[in-house]
Amino acid sequence: MLSGLSANNKTLNGNDTFLMPQFYHFQYGRQWVSLATPPALSPYALRAIIFTMKVSALGEFGLIGLLAEMISGAQDKGAASYRKLVIGIGDDAAAWKCDAGTQLVTTDSLFQDVHFRLETTPWYELGWKSLAVNLSDIAAMGGAPEYAVISLAVPPDTEVEDVRALYQGMIDLAQRFGVAIIGGDTCRAPLVSITVTVLGSAKDKDGKVLTRSAARPGDKIAVTGALGGASAGMEMLDKKLKFDAESEGQLRKAFLQPEPRVAEGQCMVRLGVKTAIDISDGLMSDLKHVCDSSKVGARVEADRIPVASAVRSNFAERALELALAGGEDYELLFTASGEILDKVKAELACPVTVIGEIVAGEPGSIVMVDARGGPVRPGKVGWEHFNE
Ligand SMILES: [Mg+2]
Repeated sequence: MLSGLSANNKTLNGNDTFLMPQFYHFQYGRQWVSLATPPALSPYALRAIIFTMKVSALGEFGLIGLLAEMISGAQDKGAASYRKLVIGIGDDAAAWKCDAGTQLVTTDSLFQDVHFRLETTPWYELGWKSLAVNLSDIAAMGGAPEYAVISLAVPPDTEVEDVRALYQGMIDLAQRFGVAIIGGDTCRAPLVSITVTVLGSAKDKDGKVLTRSAARPGDKIAVTGALGGASAGMEMLDKKLKFDAESEGQLRKAFLQPEPRVAEGQCMVRLGVKTAIDISDGLMSDLKHVCDSSKVGARVEADRIPVASAVRSNFAERALELALAGGEDYELLFTASGEILDKVKAELACPVTVIGEIVAGEPGSIVMVDARGGPVRPGKVGWEHFNE
């Protein structure tokens, strides 16, 4: 970080304190930046100055240099994705040695005031989530995420420390899954936007992936984990609702730091599951995507929906609605025969709940029933607009 910094043509290194001139110059990438400084400054103090700077003071190349250094410092060189990497950040394009097999790519953009608000989403969590939603799409294919490319737009008066926190969130999640961040772009814009593209590959040796179009009548419908936490968490933060500490922690994490079900998706492919989708729009909406693609109907039992405990205890009669229509839970919804489903259940550490079955009915039609098999009126559970 501090190499390449110079003052009066002296390069800073080590922990020495230096007598500083009135103006201090340092270089990131091709950009030289000048700062007025106090007369004496340690490298630690210097670091503090850089991180309290605005992005505009650092300049685009300075910002790229800072982020590239953060990323390369955090790389797990032993991860398979790094071993295949030929050229990472710093050239005109990244390059890696591709295995024969099925490759996957997905991209998602998060725009300020459309997909998130800075008032309720801290920068670290914003970084985490912007990568997590892409990893979740690779998980829903049963694949292994390998590389990420990040395009970032921020207003010039954004604090460098905030951008650093954003990248730390992405880096921490990337490391967990052995994902190498291999490039991207930065530019100035009136609001923040983050576009992440993730590349991956099918883990299965025959290149099999999970699709939305392979559900067949008689398949059970199941979901991983619990639902409703993300939308309840967003509402809690938006409206500044107060709950007990455990509930607040659960809801906050569900909304801001979802855990993509990467290992679970791969396990499903291995055990013979063919159909899955990640729950981003909402359970009913995403189930409808599966039914439309597979040209089948579905019968869902309302009482079986795994509503997150903090949602059930704090949102009373709206709990089911949040679990059905809230979205952004990034759990996996999948369909499989009873036999395969039992194997998946036995192998996965996370909860797996059967919520209904695929039926031959009108393609895309979803019927919801109560425990006795009686119809549940859609209006009561707030998903009617998904079922028209
Ligand atoms: Mg998806």
